[in-house]
Amino acid sequence: MEHKDIERLDRISAHLHALLHNEQPGVLDLTGQQEDEICQVGEFVNTLTEALSALTNAAHHLSIGDMDVPIIAKLPACHHLKNLQATLRHLTWQTGQIAKGDFSQRVEFLGEFSHSFNWMVEQLEAYRQRILGQNRELERLASTDSLTGVYNRRSFMAFATKEFLRSRRYSHIFSAIQMDIDHFKKINDTHGHAAGDEVLKAFTANCLEVLRESDVLGRIGGEEFSIILPETDLAGALIVAERFRQTIADLKVYVDEQIVHFTVSIGVTNLRQDDTGIEAVLRRADEALYLAKNGGRNKVVSAG
Ligand code: GH3
Ligand code: MG
Ligand code: MG
Repeated sequence: MEHKDIERLDRISAHLHALLHNEQPGVLDLTGQQEDEICQVGEFVNTLTEALSALTNAAHHLSIGDMDVPIIAKLPACHHLKNLQATLRHLTWQTGQIAKGDFSQRVEFLGEFSHSFNWMVEQLEAYRQRILGQNRELERLASTDSLTGVYNRRSFMAFATKEFLRSRRYSHIFSAIQMDIDHFKKINDTHGHAAGDEVLKAFTANCLEVLRESDVLGRIGGEEFSIILPETDLAGALIVAERFRQTIADLKVYVDEQIVHFTVSIGVTNLRQDDTGIEAVLRRADEALYLAKNGGRNKVVSAG
């Protein structure tokens, strides 16, 4: 190569460098065709510089978590960057879904991260199931009597109140039964407290056998129980109550090779037009129960 060619190449190189760095390019002593070629290269360098600048800008935005930057440059690398942007956007959406409780979300396209992410979601789902199970168990413990397993006073009253309001609203009927085991103190005194507990368990188990699934039995005191019988009139409730009384009177509870017999007194009533609340209904059933006790026990008495 001749010296003048090397000089020219140096000038061309300096010219391109100036173009690349946005500086004022020097004057080139070239033929018309050579200048055209240089101009074309210059334009190409300009386009390439702009594209690289856009790509750098997009990469920078993505690197700081800005997922909304438009990726418009037409370089092959932009295609990959766009894919990464879409992937990160989808991952953001998936995270939002998981936050809302959709634990079916899985990530498949981010290699090792996918494994960790999916494992995290599986763990969250397992925790949720465990907490739901514990909540169900807590709810059961809070609403039932630990000895007999029937509803406790609080949950029975909640059900009874609901049934009262429902029946009032839709002109339905229901009946209520109050029961109290006779001379229960004597059972404790004669056979011991543990025997008393066995009697309470046997009593509720036998009651539940006579009841329908829609009926609700609650232990509202030591040896006092209440029942709500939805869609049941007074005559129907009296039949159920008499069946209870007879079943209990015939029952033999075996405790430490001893046989314990006992009886129950029962008051029955039904919902009436002028009842202002569930308390009025249960009070009337209680009054009937009192009459059954005073009438000699082991009796069913209907209110009014
Ligand atoms: P009445 O025929 O008038 O109903 O007489 P009663 O002896 O059944 O009634 P009272 O109210 O005098 O006695 C109830 C007894 O029930 C007293 C109490 O110690 C006992 N009791 C209350 N809760 C339990 C319990 O969970 N287990 C046992 N074994 N006894 C209980
Ligand atoms: Mg009592
Ligand atoms: Mg009693």
